[in-house]
Amino acid sequence: MQVARTRAELREALAGAARPVGFVPTMGWLHDGHRSLIGRSRAENATTVVSIFVNPRQFGSTEDLARYPRSEARDLAICEAEGVDIVFDPPVDEVYPPGFDTSVGVGAIARPLEGAARPGHFEGVATVVAVLFGLVGAERAYFGQKDAQQIMVIRRMALDLAIPTEVVACPTVREPDGLALSSRNDRLTPEQRAVAPVLRRALLAGRALRERGETSGDAIRDEMRRVLAGEPLVTTEYVSCADSRTLLELDRVDGPALLSVAALFGAVRLIDNDPLD
Ligand code: AMP
Repeated sequence: MQVARTRAELREALAGAARPVGFVPTMGWLHDGHRSLIGRSRAENATTVVSIFVNPRQFGSTEDLARYPRSEARDLAICEAEGVDIVFDPPVDEVYPPGFDTSVGVGAIARPLEGAARPGHFEGVATVVAVLFGLVGAERAYFGQKDAQQIMVIRRMALDLAIPTEVVACPTVREPDGLALSSRNDRLTPEQRAVAPVLRRALLAGRALRERGETSGDAIRDEMRRVLAGEPLVTTEYVSCADSRTLLELDRVDGPALLSVAALFGAVRLIDNDPLD
């Protein structure tokens, strides 16, 4: 496994790489969700590149950049064990060198949900992914369905900017109790961790209501809100029952919809979603 810390080292490592190349962008503190993306990339490509970069531009000023968990040694050991070919693990000024002055703003699809809750977040995401896509030049890139809106934002960006990397969506990996794996889960107290599966339970309650024939978006959102409100350690940020193409809230649910939730467990913010197709 080659570890590249600069743009030049990455270019050198990629020069001799067998094609096609699969790319898995991450912020490190790797878990089984990341492992599943790496496995999929390895199955479909001759070379797999993983980036480890906690992107300051996608964190708001009041957000948890400083507390984001990091361990380079642990992440490199996991990449090695998973058979990754090239790890790109750059310092901030290698991704954003002095003079860097471009920002990628995606339109309507980036506005609701996470875009509304975290102003500037998707601009940071789209900007770093545009840089990384440019540097890696992969045939395919792998993203988790857990961040469903992120996938839609990146697809829009890649299409509009004529970036030829294909964006592949991979299923959400969960703990046995239903909690979606996330690097942030390790920051939960034992009490918060015990109640965190309520996110999944709220989504499943919304789904069950829809499957029983309910077509009112309000009724489905209320049901998810009711389940979340049953846990005193949880502060609901939003619940959503949205059109799965536009992510705009639905009055009437009669086509593909995406259920989403975002909630705070103390200072730890977790999201999850469930596509109703
Ligand atoms: P992150 O390191 O949290 O920025 O995530 C890097 C990639 O892993 C993103 O495409 C995420 O959507 C994906 N990912 C994170 N958690 C999971 C999970 N539980 N299952 C599948 N993919 C995930």
